[in-house]
Amino acid sequence: MRKSLKRYQLLIWISLLLTLGFIAVIASNYYVSKDAVERSLSENSLPITGDNVYSEIQKDILRPVFVSAQMAHDTFVRDWLLNGEDDATQIAKYLKEVKLRNNAISSFLVSDLSKNYYYPDGLLKTVKESDSRDLWFFRVKNLKTPYETNVDLDLANRDNMTIFTNYRVTDYSGKFIGAVGIGLTLDTMKHLIDSYQSRFQRKIYFVDKKGTVVLAGSASLKNGNIHQLPGLSHIAKQILGTSANDSLHLTYQNDAEKIVLNSRFLPELGWYLLVEQNLDTEMQAIQRSLLINGIVGGSITLLVLLLTLLSIRRYQNKIEKSAATDPLTKLLNRQAFDFVFQQAILDSERSRQPLCVALMDIDHFKKINDKQGHLIGDHVLKEIAMIAKRSLRESDVICRWGGEEFLILLKNCALEKATAIAENLRTTIAANDFSRTTDLAKGRLNLTVSMGVAECKTQESEDSVFERADVALYQAKESGRNSVYFSE
Ligand code: GH3
Ligand code: MG
Ligand code: MG
Repeated sequence: MRKSLKRYQLLIWISLLLTLGFIAVIASNYYVSKDAVERSLSENSLPITGDNVYSEIQKDILRPVFVSAQMAHDTFVRDWLLNGEDDATQIAKYLKEVKLRNNAISSFLVSDLSKNYYYPDGLLKTVKESDSRDLWFFRVKNLKTPYETNVDLDLANRDNMTIFTNYRVTDYSGKFIGAVGIGLTLDTMKHLIDSYQSRFQRKIYFVDKKGTVVLAGSASLKNGNIHQLPGLSHIAKQILGTSANDSLHLTYQNDAEKIVLNSRFLPELGWYLLVEQNLDTEMQAIQRSLLINGIVGGSITLLVLLLTLLSIRRYQNKIEKSAATDPLTKLLNRQAFDFVFQQAILDSERSRQPLCVALMDIDHFKKINDKQGHLIGDHVLKEIAMIAKRSLRESDVICRWGGEEFLILLKNCALEKATAIAENLRTTIAANDFSRTTDLAKGRLNLTVSMGVAECKTQESEDSVFERADVALYQAKESGRNSVYFSE
């Protein structure tokens, strides 16, 4: 486990770095985009919406002013007042005409001299300073500006919001002689707010100087006073501090949502126009694109890592294999055998199964090299390796021990059986004509091997068991070669 971890250490580091880099890029992308979206909302989109709403409603707000200004400057109205308000039907007809033409809900004239209140149907009443409902007239009388605008809200039915203009009427020398005005429905305002809300998912609403929400679109669900509304209460003071002709950018947190808000003061109404947008809603498209980016990028990275892992593994396996094999015979080399042998000893001790080694040396190999040449010598080595592999069991391990020496590891095999296997191998080799598999050999090519077998004793060292096999091999050589000897 530790070995494989080490083997893939570099890859693990690369993956880790790539993943971290990837997360960092996605996260920084997200925050940069969020910042940009927030900035564009607060500096462009919301103020522009505010501007548009304001310019659209200005028409609504200013219309009654124009109409009442015309009424106030109308010579007929002034003369009629100055000439003693003779025939009420005349002014009633005039007011009816003004009301009809402007699609107004009311039109009126109040005389300062008689305090008579005229409306399209004639004389309605006389205004009294003691009546609170008539106080507006006395206020208008003392007004420094030519008119005042009042917005009347029917809270039960917000569509019926009306705007009244009370315009001062003066004689030709500028003396106050009365007040005229009309009341118009602010229906455009409501439709406008609703259309903006549905088009941009922005909430548009108006609050008065005290912070009470006086008008809101159907979907904004804003009600009450901003001093009490969640999130808004923290910035209510700032909102109500927005000066005329100024537009204020604010943000507030409502639960987990971040809201970007733009506030502007409408001097004509004495209201604040608030436009707000949920930043998280605006971020959804960006989140989606980042998610897709993440999935595509992540999959490609994963694929690249996987391919790298596979090729590294293939390459490493190849290196490990070539480092462990003898290039000529393709058998295990001595270094690799060492590891295999250690493992086999442990297994044999654990399973209490006997383990034998057989050392095999080609007889008079020098002569083959000398007579037939080194190429034939190499060919013989390869063929002996093949014969040994064929005649041994799958579990047995064969290794090229030295020049023309081979070491065979016989697992789960006692000395007697090992000697028999060695004997079998010896006779197979002796019976083989090595010239059959090469064109280089001159005539028949036979050779023999000598072998020394030893069984590993308990707790015996590696050197000792090889030494004993080597002694047995020496005995086989001494006794005339082409034989198998074993060490007791
Ligand atoms: P003995 O019966 O006593 O073993 O006689 P021998 O001639 O086989 O003697 P020895 O074992 O000392 O000879 C080893 C020879 O094997 C020496 C060397 O030239 C030859 N040899 C070792 N490695 C290779 C090899 O890779 N290819 C070839 N062609 N010859 C090799
Ligand atoms: Mg030798
Ligand atoms: Mg030899």
